[in-house]
Amino acid sequence: MRRDEVVKKMSELMRSGAVMLDIACPICSTPLFKLRSGEIVCPVHGSVRVVRSDSEAVEVRSQFVLDRLELLATDRINKILDAVSKEDLEDDEIKLLTYLEKWLEVLERARRLKQVAREEKK
Ligand SMILES: [Zn+2]
Repeated sequence: MRRDEVVKKMSELMRSGAVMLDIACPICSTPLFKLRSGEIVCPVHGSVRVVRSDSEAVEVRSQFVLDRLELLATDRINKILDAVSKEDLEDDEIKLLTYLEKWLEVLERARRLKQVAREEKK
């Protein structure tokens, strides 16, 4: 999100009665807002977890990155599958399969890292 869009979002929040807090989003460091409903949101990321320590902030940030990675890999795999399923493929098929393999590796790794993070929390 661009800076002016963030500012616009912040003023929208304030107009709707939300209160700016003196705590920052663990992902992007933008000030967080408390909505009338009591929910705490970041103008950029929406609903976020309020963290009490740096290590908790790191945890939230890495979770966010892994979620993004998983989503990106899924989108790319979907696009590759669309391309592979077209009938007029010839030499491109090998290339696409190589991409597919790489993105599957990314997806698998993102999921494994999330799993590790979940297990560490226990
Ligand atoms: Zn944020």
